[in-house]
Amino acid sequence: MERKQFGLGDVVEMKKQHPCGTNQWKIIRMGMDIRLKCQGCEHSVLIPRHKFEKSLKKVLVHAEENK
Ligand SMILES: [Zn+2]
Repeated sequence: MERKQFGLGDVVEMKKQHPCGTNQWKIIRMGMDIRLKCQGCEHSVLIPRHKFEKSLKKVLVHAEENK
C-alpha cells in the first residue's frame, strides 16, 4: 500500500466524517499527536499520529511544502 504523505496546512478527508456533516479537516499541528480543525464547524481535535494515519482517507489539498 502506498504511504500517504501529509503535512502541516494540508486539508484531508478522513474515513469518518465529523458529526456536523463535513469531511474536510485541516492539519494545524504536527507532532506525536496531530491537531485537526474541521473545516465545517471549526471544531478542533487532537489525535495520536498512528490513529490519524489509519483513519486518513486522502489528502485533498497539499499545502506548500516547507522542509
Ligand atoms: Zn465539524
